[in-house]
Amino acid sequence: MTKPILLSTPHMGDRELEFVKEAFDTNWIAPIGPHVDAFEQEFCQVVGARHAAAVSSGTAALHLALRLIGVESGDEVFCSSFTFIATASPITYLGAKPVFIDSDRTSWNMNPDLLREALERRARSGKLPKAVVLVHLYGQSADIDPIVAACSAYQVPLIEDAAESLGAIYKGRSPGTFGCIGIYSFNGNKIITTSGGGMLVADDSQLVSKARFLATQARDPAPHYQHSEIGYNYRLSNVLAGIGRGQLRVLGDRVAARRHNFEVYQQALGSLPGIEFMPEATFGRATRWLTCLTINPITFGADREQVRLALAKQQIEARPVWKPLHLQPVFANCECIGGAIAEDLFKWGLCLPSGSNLTIEDLERVIQAIAEIHQRTVQTHAN
Ligand SMILES: *Cc1c(COP(=O)(O)O)cnc(C)c1O
Repeated sequence: MTKPILLSTPHMGDRELEFVKEAFDTNWIAPIGPHVDAFEQEFCQVVGARHAAAVSSGTAALHLALRLIGVESGDEVFCSSFTFIATASPITYLGAKPVFIDSDRTSWNMNPDLLREALERRARSGKLPKAVVLVHLYGQSADIDPIVAACSAYQVPLIEDAAESLGAIYKGRSPGTFGCIGIYSFNGNKIITTSGGGMLVADDSQLVSKARFLATQARDPAPHYQHSEIGYNYRLSNVLAGIGRGQLRVLGDRVAARRHNFEVYQQALGSLPGIEFMPEATFGRATRWLTCLTINPITFGADREQVRLALAKQQIEARPVWKPLHLQPVFANCECIGGAIAEDLFKWGLCLPSGSNLTIEDLERVIQAIAEIHQRTVQTHAN
């Protein structure tokens, strides 16, 4: 039987089980504890953030971030369109409405010019958004400097969704640490995982203390249970924080392995007609969390879906790139500024198996399968 090759699976290091065992041995099986505190501190050191709060998911971290900024019912929030739904769903949890912004071709992330122009227009009509949510997709940072500049010019807080880009670099620093609040995810498919979890970071210690407060049911400091606000149950388990501490220690290796996958794929497939790999923007270093490419069906001879299905037949899991949020039925009533680039990327874009635990044989099987699809179409045309 052929072994399935999956898109992105967990990859444990040597220390995770030790930390988990320590949690068991000390009976810290709770959503607080020494591993949670240590994970937060160690995470701050890795990304260069001042303060961090470990939570139950990246989505929870985004929800808290928007609450901390004061997003409320009826507000508008600008948001990247080309991303996973979790970037935008917390906006709707608060009764606010996303306004989507298209990508640029150099980073596949938010186009800073579109954002600046949109903020200019909104300032003139006196209807600025309450916040901007910027995603760093597939391990690559957006062009953060002009986005920060545009947001500061109009005093609109910036939230960075770096769920997919832990380990990436933008001009020497970690994406997620430039805005007012940044968030990360440790879901099972991310570059490191706690099986499920997330982190919220900020320079402002009060924001992070408030995040912890909201994440633990917003309990007032009183001996009895007293509440002046509604909170959530969003803290990370001490057991899972132990996994996170182990995973943090191998983050550098995981980035190197995923970048290596990308290089192997690109070497082997980059010269096939119609294939273009996701560019790496010159302002930073991508992690290549997922290896993404676009397939021009005319020059390649098969379209994205045909390739995906042919791979699936050989037990190889590939997936279309994110469907832009402005094309999602649930957001049919939301405005989008631009949109053509994200639509183009979606039409042709495919993510290849990219886990840091793939072997060279796995990569070769994927490469072979794609090369054969192209070969077959060339032969069909020749006959
Ligand atoms: C995974 C992901 C999230 C959500 O993280 P969870 O931990 O799964 O809740 C948010 N945004 C993006 C871009 C993601 O890929």
